[in-house]
Amino acid sequence: MTADTVDLGRRGFLRGRRSDAPAPIHPPWSRPEFFTDLCSRCGACADACPEAILRPGDGGFPEADFALGECSFCGACAEACPEPIFDRSGAPWSLVATVADTCLAARRVVCRSCQDACPESAIRFIPAPGGAAHATIDDAACTGCGACVGACPADAVTLRRQTPNRQTPNSQLGSQPGDPHAL
Ligand code: SF4
Ligand code: SF4
Repeated sequence: MTADTVDLGRRGFLRGRRSDAPAPIHPPWSRPEFFTDLCSRCGACADACPEAILRPGDGGFPEADFALGECSFCGACAEACPEPIFDRSGAPWSLVATVADTCLAARRVVCRSCQDACPESAIRFIPAPGGAAHATIDDAACTGCGACVGACPADAVTLRRQTPNRQTPNSQLGSQPGDPHAL
């Protein structure tokens, strides 16, 4: 089997990962189709990360843990990696934030922690009946940096992968290769 035909479902099964478990978030710009074949789990990316958000995850492969902080898209992990895993010619990843209904604001508790933490001003609160507020994410502005995840006192914010048909074309964003907005 070549790197182009990695059976990720079978790999997950062999490692004991549940088929419905969320896919791990590997370092930005890493190519998921090659990751587990080429990563030697040396830890160079995690050691290089100034935000210390990379840690060994499933199988010892590095994963981003946004409870530890946010990604600054510095690229140090990609530069430190001795394997041909990273491709910085495009977007770092296609992650965007999503807010669950456990959000305190949705339960009429005054909280704007995620909005305050977001460096892209991608989070808005829309008033809802009864004094509640509904957090909405501007997918085009969100870079998936994860700053809002750890900021939420209710653990209501997670990151999800954008589906291809919702991704904003680079031409509309005026972005450059490697720009976090180049989703
Ligand atoms: S781009 Fe920089 S901040 Fe983000 S995971 Fe890599 S080393 Fe850490
Ligand atoms: S992931 Fe980053 S850019 Fe997106 S909403 Fe959260 S803080 Fe803002």
